[in-house]
Amino acid sequence: MQQSKIWLSSPHMGGNELTYIQEAFDHNWIAPLGPNVTGFETDLKQFLQTEKEVGALSSGTAAIHLGLILLGVKAGDEVLCQSMTFSASANPIAYQGATPIFIDSEKDTWNMCPVFLEEAIKDRMALGNKPKAIILVHLYGMPAKVDEIVAISKKYEIPILEDAAEALGATYKGKNCGTFGDFGVLSFNGNKIITTSGGGALVCNTIEAKQKAIFLATQARDEAPHYQHSQIGYNYRMSNIVAGIGRGQMAVLPAHIALRRKMHQFYKDIFKNVQGIRVFEEPTNDYFSNHWLSCILFETETAPFTSEKLRIALLKDNIESRPLWKPMHLQPIFSECAFYGTDISENLFQNGLCLPSGSNLSDADRERIRTSIQKLL
Ligand SMILES: *Cc1c(COP(=O)(O)O)cnc(C)c1O
Repeated sequence: MQQSKIWLSSPHMGGNELTYIQEAFDHNWIAPLGPNVTGFETDLKQFLQTEKEVGALSSGTAAIHLGLILLGVKAGDEVLCQSMTFSASANPIAYQGATPIFIDSEKDTWNMCPVFLEEAIKDRMALGNKPKAIILVHLYGMPAKVDEIVAISKKYEIPILEDAAEALGATYKGKNCGTFGDFGVLSFNGNKIITTSGGGALVCNTIEAKQKAIFLATQARDEAPHYQHSQIGYNYRMSNIVAGIGRGQMAVLPAHIALRRKMHQFYKDIFKNVQGIRVFEEPTNDYFSNHWLSCILFETETAPFTSEKLRIALLKDNIESRPLWKPMHLQPIFSECAFYGTDISENLFQNGLCLPSGSNLSDADRERIRTSIQKLL
């Protein structure tokens, strides 16, 4: 008999979500807006320990799109974007008719390399097209080299849109990911560290910026008794039902981070004496990853087998694992775009693997994973 599937990362409800949804039903607050939306926004703001404002939206992708619009990105503009990421980081650049310029990773955090970033800025400026924004990502919950990237952003006066979709609860020098950029983006998709089934948020520097984001997210209606519009609007607001799930999830977020980090420790134990396979971890104490996904990297010369061999072996035991994000400059849809870097993100993609990391994995699940890996070792 086939054992049940062990997923990379699956939804993990805390128990209180239905209370908030019931409340919404009791008051017939099913439409967008309502106390769960504002409550969820307040919870997020408190969790992030920030003076900034948080606007709840229908997805992280919507938040990136609105962030770019509010940064003034328009058709013909160029936007610098970390190449190694999920496509949702880059797609909204294309929604705006702008052009992505992709930047390679560095080896410490796997995120945007400051050296290639500066090289790209200088080169684009010399070509007469100063980029409009920098999309920085904290992959797998690992904070990027924030100080270096922020310094470059300030030096060249190019704003940062910080994609913290995978990094809720991760910190850099004690400060929360999502609060470093001119805008920050969170996601509550089904596979993220907390989920609302689908949802996202935009972290804004000012209340005015948040109001503008919400205005655009709710069809850009001018103030008038009839429907009047002087701008293109979007239907991007989070609903009160969905936000109810979010409120319930906020209560368990710290526990879920601890459980994800426990999974990371579990893999460190398994691979601690294995030559050529390295568990991805924080380079220094400045970095605190939420370890949304635990990843390993194979050294081609010394590893006892390849990442693909392990992936297939796990799959035979009905355990999901997945290669790292395929860099955007290698994607067919973006193959014409400019890229600054070498083969760092490409090598990570070739030799890395994400392992089951959910906060809801049981001791029995862990035993199955351990046994499956040890069969190969
Ligand atoms: C999940 C994710 C997004 C998109 O978020 P959605 O809520 O699914 O739209 C954006 N960027 C990264 C890096 C992600 O992992």
